[in-house]
Amino acid sequence: MRVERLGDGEPELAVVAAIHGDEPCGMRAIERLIAEGPAVERPVKLIVANERALDEGVRYTEADLNRIFPGAPDAPEYERRLATDLLREVRDCTVLSLHSTQSFDRPFAVIEADDPIAAAVSPYLSIEAAVDVGGFAEGRLIDYADVIEIECGYQGSAAAAENAYELIREFLTAVGALSGGEPDTRQVPIYRLERRIPKDPADDYGVLVENFERVAAGTVFATAGERELVADEPFYPVLLSSHGYQEEFGYAAERIGAFDRTPVETERGSHASGR
Ligand SMILES: [Zn+2]
Repeated sequence: MRVERLGDGEPELAVVAAIHGDEPCGMRAIERLIAEGPAVERPVKLIVANERALDEGVRYTEADLNRIFPGAPDAPEYERRLATDLLREVRDCTVLSLHSTQSFDRPFAVIEADDPIAAAVSPYLSIEAAVDVGGFAEGRLIDYADVIEIECGYQGSAAAAENAYELIREFLTAVGALSGGEPDTRQVPIYRLERRIPKDPADDYGVLVENFERVAAGTVFATAGERELVADEPFYPVLLSSHGYQEEFGYAAERIGAFDRTPVETERGSHASGR
């Protein structure tokens, strides 16, 4: 795990990249930010988490880091030990964690609905949506730290790295670490994951609908070999992709509301505290 700092003092803000080793966008964005070395009004920790998986270009080496928090210091698997180290590193911090997917080209947040950071920060980020993982939070960093996760775009794409960089700057502006005039805000729709869409074994898979666009009952939304999957009831597809996951296409979600700008003044006069 690589940990860098911007500014002086003990950071209460952190940016985490490469929880998954095959999602290099966050690391590229952090390296760009370090090279620029911007002046910050609050110190920030910049963390590249799973360097071993990053070197190998794999999601994880021994266990999926974003499914095994809080980890264990003496565990046999590298990622379980790393989970404990990473939690210690981000304790007491408001955290932006950067991911990427095989399902969607534009950024969206992954949140827990009752987490105040999601409401405070989301309107300041260039994101399409916020996804409340609901009952699917187990073992994820969001269940154990004060964190907003962002899926920045397609895994390995230059666009995802560019998005990650812009999102770091927007996050640091929202929490008062970067100054730069009045930030843009937007309304962000919230979707809650309701169920997994399982994949039966097949030679090939297809997805026929767009993520975050409502699928009507009776629509053929995916194929598994010759078989067509038909929606029993309307839903919003989220994280749906043909080959992103081994055992599921993704998730069926419901739209449950929207985040809007909710200014929170802190003693530092930032736009949103996130705490
Ligand atoms: Zn990821």
